Amino acid sequence: MKEKIYDILIIGGGVAGMTASIYAKRRNKSVAIIEPYVLGGQLFQIEKIENFPSYASITGYELLENFQKQIESLSIEVISDEIVDVEFENIKKLVGKKQSYFAKSVIIATGLSHNKLGKNEDEFLGRGTSYCVTCDANFYQGQTVAVASKNGSGVLGAVELADICEKVFLLDSGNMNKYAEHCPKKNIEVLSNVQIEKLIGDKKLESVELKGGEIIPTSALFVELGKKPQTEIFKGILELDGQGYILTDDRMETSVKGVFACGDIRANTLKQLVVACGEGAVAGNFA
Ligand SMILES: Cc1cc2nc3c(=O)[nH]c(=O)nc-3n(C[C@H](O)[C@H](O)[C@H](O)COP(=O)(O)OP(=O)(O)OC[C@H]3O[C@@H](n4cnc5c(N)ncnc54)[C@H](O)[C@@H]3O)c2cc1C
Repeated sequence: MKEKIYDILIIGGGVAGMTASIYAKRRNKSVAIIEPYVLGGQLFQIEKIENFPSYASITGYELLENFQKQIESLSIEVISDEIVDVEFENIKKLVGKKQSYFAKSVIIATGLSHNKLGKNEDEFLGRGTSYCVTCDANFYQGQTVAVASKNGSGVLGAVELADICEKVFLLDSGNMNKYAEHCPKKNIEVLSNVQIEKLIGDKKLESVELKGGEIIPTSALFVELGKKPQTEIFKGILELDGQGYILTDDRMETSVKGVFACGDIRANTLKQLVVACGEGAVAGNFA
């Protein structure tokens, strides 16, 4: 049987991939999104969004429902599979766990995952735990918050929070004594060589317990332990930056002709919903 060759295949069904599919489909291209889970990506983890233009406030789930309705109304094909290998010749081959897929152009929108603390932080997702300072700092205006950090990974987040929150505990598992001496913000308290044991609270986060028993009262724990771009399968094939994010030109085209990337997976971009949508639009259009 002859394999179907799509005009455009999109790897990843977060907001970047979904937006790219809308633009491609409206140009009358044969297009499909390949996603191993339900469409939505990181949207599933967002309790409340207050920086998506045109919505003063919307939940991640509500925004996701809107996206899903639009994808359905345009009859965009969604394939349930995970891509595990790629061959980017003139016709691009995507090897899934279930089967292989072929396309003239490919859009990579595989997003990122946040490194976890590995304690009980997910119990408090949307109720104190956050993986995104830019997204959630405003919810804790004038309050005391904490940042989980490793060898300074949380410094930038702590400084951003210090402008909005009354007090910020920077809880770092490494030695941050030098930074503590020169910390530019008076309301940041740096604790070096500390391990977070558990998060404590009833309906919302109230404190974190450190190894040794010390209790730090806090309304939020921002987990700033780094991010992992989902680019393992593109190593050695596409040009990546030092952290593993995909480099593109202004049209979102990667170092390989006909292969595009958009959203959180892209290098040098603000990891936010509206940006991922904008980049998805550009990729969907030029692909
Ligand atoms: C807790 C939290 C709160 C946030 N709050 C906000 C906010 O208030 N405002 C805001 O603007 N932004 C917020 N963000 C950031 C925002 O969610 C992201 O910038 C945005 O969702 C990125 O979308 P994306 O499509 O690029 O990637 P993702 O949403 O990460 O989607 C990538 C998709 O690709 C799929 N995928 C990965 N690998 C493969 C593969 N090999 N094959 C097939 N599919 C694959 C994944 O399953 C996933 O569905 C928040 C993020 C988090 C985690």
